[in-house]
Amino acid sequence: MTSSAERQCGDCTLCCKVMAIEALAKPANVWCPRCSPGRGCAIYAARPDECASFNCLWRVNDLLDDRWKPSRSKLVLTTSDDGIEIRCDPGFPNAWRKEPYASEIRAWAAEGGTNDMTVVVIVGQRMILVTPEREFDLGIVGPDERIVRELEGTKVVRATVTKASEM
Ligand code: SF4
Ligand code: SF4
Repeated sequence: MTSSAERQCGDCTLCCKVMAIEALAKPANVWCPRCSPGRGCAIYAARPDECASFNCLWRVNDLLDDRWKPSRSKLVLTTSDDGIEIRCDPGFPNAWRKEPYASEIRAWAAEGGTNDMTVVVIVGQRMILVTPEREFDLGIVGPDERIVRELEGTKVVRATVTKASEM
């Protein structure tokens, strides 16, 4: 989507599929009509600001090697207020269970357990909270909803979804 980060998108256009683009009323998980998959954006110079300012984590984080390039991994990583979000290409819903991704995601969950960072995998409309001990399938989580974790010490024992306005 952008041109300013350290790495270049090259043949990757996956965020133009998995991310929702509010300015275009484009829902998540469908190709943007302006995108030529694998080639780029037909309105690059005039693309919405939310596209121009977007960088997935692979572009900006050297710790993610080329196996994590989204066009290869089928995973688009971003940060959230609480931690990391991992969006699967809906055409490859099990991509996150393959290696080296699955082990790395579990390792992040283990780190997150000690510094209160959440690791969430998003497959289509489903959200899965990954903790060091287990996975919590949260089902469909709306944009106005938030994950609420119940902790015993640093261990997540329950995860539910609630309206942001009720928190
Ligand atoms: S997912 Fe990342 S690497 Fe791929 S096009 Fe978007 S910003 Fe570029
Ligand atoms: S407008 Fe361009 S950069 Fe934005 S989602 Fe569509 S194809 Fe991608």
